[in-house]
Amino acid sequence: MNVELSRRQFVIGAGAGAAGTALGAFGFGEVEQAFATTIRPFKLTSLTETRNTCTYCAVGCGIILYSKGNLAKGEKAEITHIEGDSDHPTNRGTLCPKGAALLDMVHSESRLKQPMLRKPGSDKFEPISWDAALDKIAKALKADRDANFVAKNKDGATVNRWVTTGFLAASATTNETAWTTYKVVRGMGMLVFDNQARV
Ligand code: SF4
Repeated sequence: MNVELSRRQFVIGAGAGAAGTALGAFGFGEVEQAFATTIRPFKLTSLTETRNTCTYCAVGCGIILYSKGNLAKGEKAEITHIEGDSDHPTNRGTLCPKGAALLDMVHSESRLKQPMLRKPGSDKFEPISWDAALDKIAKALKADRDANFVAKNKDGATVNRWVTTGFLAASATTNETAWTTYKVVRGMGMLVFDNQARV
């Protein structure tokens, strides 16, 4: 029998769902089958799940990124959906409005995706590689520290401080990253150090 399921039949079937086996005994077994064919496959099941942390604030809510595109086959991943991670101890699946709008941030045309450099005298920023940016930052840090590190104050007391460069840490880090950042920054003698909450 070819069963075409109308809305009315669906409701009738839903009401009778729990008694499907009994219906089958009365010759209505195809209702269940027709039921199954009307249910659309859950669209997220074919996507890749990646756990991450919301980048917006120091609450650090857990998120799940859903992407299509098989990286193993050389395809480009495209994030199509982001939701709260219900297994995450911080937010238990919830997101504030900013976190709920993360997908717009990911696809924003103005989103910065790599380091940019404005050369001396130039009026525009140009993209540079991460390696080039890190080398440049490391050289600038060393030059400034060599020139301005204060080992002792005017009374001869050891202070080992460096106050001419500051460091702004990120919020979306693990405790371990935060601990390491703190040790590196303080180990260099840097006093000007801030972030949103966790270091
Ligand atoms: S979802 Fe909201 S509260 Fe949670 S980390 Fe992101 S911005 Fe902060």
